[in-house]
Amino acid sequence: MSNNPERPFSRHHALITGGGRGIGAAVAEALARQGANLSLLGRSADVLQSTAARLREKYGVQVATASADVASEEAVRRAIGTVRDVLGNPTILVNNAGIAISSPFLKADSAFWRKLLDVDLMGPVYCTQAVLPAMLEAKWGRIVNIGSTAGVSGFAYITTYCAAKHALHGLTRALAMEVVRQGITVNAVCPGYVDTEMTAGSVANIVKKTQLSREDAIANLVSHNPQGRLIQPEEVADAVVWLCGDGAGAVTGQCILVAGGELMP
Ligand code: NAD
Repeated sequence: MSNNPERPFSRHHALITGGGRGIGAAVAEALARQGANLSLLGRSADVLQSTAARLREKYGVQVATASADVASEEAVRRAIGTVRDVLGNPTILVNNAGIAISSPFLKADSAFWRKLLDVDLMGPVYCTQAVLPAMLEAKWGRIVNIGSTAGVSGFAYITTYCAAKHALHGLTRALAMEVVRQGITVNAVCPGYVDTEMTAGSVANIVKKTQLSREDAIANLVSHNPQGRLIQPEEVADAVVWLCGDGAGAVTGQCILVAGGELMP
C-alpha cells in the first residue's frame, strides 16, 4: 500500500468486471477516490469508456477498459492481456459482473442454467485464473467476489441464481484456503437488493408477471430488508474497499452480508 494516507491504493491496479455501471461502477469510483489505477472489463465498450473518462477526470487515475463477455474464457484472457499491457498485473480483482434471471424451476432448461452459470460462476473462475498467477508471484493480492443473500439462503423462482451464488461463495472459501499463506485474501461481499438496473429489471419483471404496481413491487422487494430500503451501491463498494486494504489482511474466506440485517447466518 502507499504511504500517502489520502490515496492508500495509489500503487495498485484494480480490475473490476462489469465496472461500467451499478455496483461495479461504485466500486471503481471508491477505489479511484483512494488512488487506485483501474481496469474496467465488461460487455459495452461505450459504457465502460464513459465511466473511465469520468473517473480519470475526477480522480486523476489511469483507467484502462477492455470489452469481454466474462462467460468466454478466451475473451477474458484476451481482455486481461490488453489491460495488463497498459497498467501491469492487477493486484486487486473484483468479480462483479453478473446477471439475474428468474424462472420457475421446472421451466429452467439446461440452456437457461448454462447461460447463468457461465456468467455468474465461470466468469469469476476465468478472471481469477487469469490474474492469480501474478498475485502468487508478487505474494500479495486481493480478490473480492460480489456474492448475494441468494448465496446464503434460498429464494423462490431463482434456483439457478441461488445455485450460482452459493457456488461462488464456496469458491471464495475454498480458494481462500488454497492461497492463505501467499499474501492473498479471497472474500465475498453479499448484498441484499441494491438500487441498480438489475433490481429495476426485477421490479419490471414482477410488475409484468403479477400486475402489481411498480411501487408495490419495490415495497415487496424491500420488505426482505429489516431496514425497509434498497441498499445503495456505494454501501457495497465501501465493504469491497475495506477488504482490499492492508487493514483487512487477516480477513479471508468470508462472505460479508451488506443487507440491512436481512440474514444473520
Ligand atoms: P447491473 O445489471 O446494474 O450491472 C451488472 C454489470 O455486469 C453490468 O455492467 C453488465 O454489463 C455486466 N455484465 C453482465 N453480464 C456480463 C457478461 N457476460 N460479461 C461481462 N460483463 C457482464 O447489476 P448490479 O446490481 O450492479 O450487479 C452487480 C453484481 O452484484 C452482480 O454479480 C449481481 O449478481 C450482484 N448482486 C446484485 C444485487 C442487486 O440487488 N442489484 C444483489 C445482490 C448481488
